[in-house]
Amino acid sequence: MKLPFAESWKIKMVEPITKSTREQREAWIKEAGYNVFQLRADQVYIDCLTDSGTGAMSDRQWAALMMGDESYAGARSFYELRDTIERITGFKYVIPTHQGRAAENVLFSALVHEGDYVPGNSHFDTTKGHIEFRKAFAVDCTIDDAKDTQKELPFKGNVDITKLEKVLEEHKDKIPFIIVTVTNNTAGGQPVSMQNLRDVRALADKYGKRVVLDSARFAENAYFIKTREEGYADKTIKEICKEMFDLADGMTMSAKKDGIVNMGGFIATRWEDWYEAAKAFVIPFEGYLTYGGMNGRDMAALAVGLDENTEFDNLDTRIHQLQLLASLLDEYGIPYQRPIGGHAVFVDALKVLPQIPKEQFPAQTLTIELYKEAGIRGCEIGYILADRDPVTRENRFGGNDFVRLCIPRRVYTDNHIRVIAAALKNVFDRRDEIKKGVEIVWEAELMRHFTVKLKPVE
Ligand SMILES: *Cc1c(COP(=O)(O)O)cnc(C)c1O
Repeated sequence: MKLPFAESWKIKMVEPITKSTREQREAWIKEAGYNVFQLRADQVYIDCLTDSGTGAMSDRQWAALMMGDESYAGARSFYELRDTIERITGFKYVIPTHQGRAAENVLFSALVHEGDYVPGNSHFDTTKGHIEFRKAFAVDCTIDDAKDTQKELPFKGNVDITKLEKVLEEHKDKIPFIIVTVTNNTAGGQPVSMQNLRDVRALADKYGKRVVLDSARFAENAYFIKTREEGYADKTIKEICKEMFDLADGMTMSAKKDGIVNMGGFIATRWEDWYEAAKAFVIPFEGYLTYGGMNGRDMAALAVGLDENTEFDNLDTRIHQLQLLASLLDEYGIPYQRPIGGHAVFVDALKVLPQIPKEQFPAQTLTIELYKEAGIRGCEIGYILADRDPVTRENRFGGNDFVRLCIPRRVYTDNHIRVIAAALKNVFDRRDEIKKGVEIVWEAELMRHFTVKLKPVE
């Protein structure tokens, strides 16, 4: 008999989680203004809010914490981190920062100016924010197929090369760099192929531009290249990572994702001029060059995390959990963004609750129902998150309306995954009884989803 698949780790330390009753959850979510961001974590049974900073460190990472060097300047832990990053990426200049958006802040302060254009594939919200804050434009060149939730493509995060060339042609002198996000978070954790990275490189060379990889999930991207792209099956994850970064000039990194630490980030580049320019901003914004925003011990744990998470078995365990979740949703007929990506499932709420008008926020309604059903915290990536149009102040109902369920790294077992799927099925089976959604009682002008107060429609 073929042995079944199992995790590539065993558990040394556990953290109890508690179940609650439906009655308790109904009271708690009401108190939270029907906004899951306002719940206390103790009121959640399985937390799928995000995979950012929520992973479980290994025994080697915890051991590394104890060996951290907290020297203000020139700490040994910095050099360990720098050498690990150089070995994996080939980038020799490294600047630590306190998280991914801080890396963007430092690098973009040096490179992005008013009136610039920064083309890429579905810029992450903080990336877009840091571009627009500088009165520059983030131009989304993702392939159109990424919007079709039912279309199965191996590399649905790809850059549309024709769209990219059009932007390069039109704004030649106003483009500081091209940014490619791996994996493409906004499109559903969808990977970018090596061929696509090669095509982006060729265009960048043609127009004399540099390429930045927004690398939060670069190791998961490498896993998909290995398992889906022709010619990579026999390469190691580390070889594939090196090849990806060989096609770029620099990276920004949220280490809270594929670094498997709870806080941290960095910039890395092969170019001395970029490093020199960024240096001027890291010191006032983050800290001295050899710690940026990080403790010595955190840099030590990150160096180990990067090494571990660029090994196949660790990634294989993680992606298998996502694929288990997808196979259960398939069995139950629950529609989601296909194929499942590297870190989350995006449930298509408009297809689950077509009877709920857009003005009553179907994905938020489904998020609340799932919480009430089993204490599972997902997150609306839909019409509330989309905010209002800045000019007309109308809700933006143009895009998708998803419930995102993120899976933290090395935290939950396959049994938890089965609970998540079963809870969704229970809500799905009684979807016709859900007749009304929610309405907004209070909202902030920008990024309203964090603090919005809602109530059920009477
Ligand atoms: C999380 C994330 C960021 C921002 O990183 P933080 O550590 O949350 O500041 C940037 N880009 C992508 C693709 C991300 O997923």
